[in-house]
Amino acid sequence: MSINKCKIGGIVAEVPKRMNSLFYGDVLEIRLDINRKDIDKIEHVTCLIVDKELIERAMNTIGVGDYLFCFGHFVSLEYKRKQLVKCPHCGKEGYRMRKAQNTDIILRDFEVTKGIDLSDSDGVNRVVLTGVVNNPIQQREGHNRFQIVNNRPIQAQQHLMEIVTEELLAGSERFNLVNVNTFNGLATHVSKTVKQSNRVIVKGSIYDRIIKYTIPCKCKYCEEMFEYDVVYPQYEVTATSVRQDVDYISKS
Ligand SMILES: [Zn+2]
Repeated sequence: MSINKCKIGGIVAEVPKRMNSLFYGDVLEIRLDINRKDIDKIEHVTCLIVDKELIERAMNTIGVGDYLFCFGHFVSLEYKRKQLVKCPHCGKEGYRMRKAQNTDIILRDFEVTKGIDLSDSDGVNRVVLTGVVNNPIQQREGHNRFQIVNNRPIQAQQHLMEIVTEELLAGSERFNLVNVNTFNGLATHVSKTVKQSNRVIVKGSIYDRIIKYTIPCKCKYCEEMFEYDVVYPQYEVTATSVRQDVDYISKS
């Protein structure tokens, strides 16, 4: 069985925003400031509520400055991201499509505490995920990256397909692709003990990374070459522990 759990505790940074998400339609977006006393840092995580009843409860109970302790899960969806690109040579515009990942923390429950300010609050940012390592570990000096495939339960797949409004890439409804980063000693440990196709248990925290890369392309009007930037935010995991899922291996 696949594990996918997030626990986030932080101060509500601004008025929760009811909005229309490209993927889930009507959602409530909650921005949290997380006072990580353990690493002496303020982190920012935005969570979504998709469930209608939970949205109602949140709107009636959550205010700016409240301490919110949330339970949720990590959701990633692959889709074709459409971007309007302008040719610098002839000035004509056209849409370019690229495969992209949309990641969210979707809440399933929360508790509200009033009267704690940010400096007194104990921020929580914890995630536990299991999954199969999807590709060879990318190793750099003191920093490794790899991706895990975390299967979505069938019920969650069905629910997702009912609510998602954007067209997903085939297969994307069945699993979450999660990028995991390890640093220093843990990176060394991962290099020695984990490889592609292993099933692992990852514990850590969530942070948002800006994905940014440059694409060369040819203008279909004037046929000149030019480059454009693709930029979007994505949640990834910074691991504090990565170990092989031994229970899983013994069964196979
Ligand atoms: Zn052009």
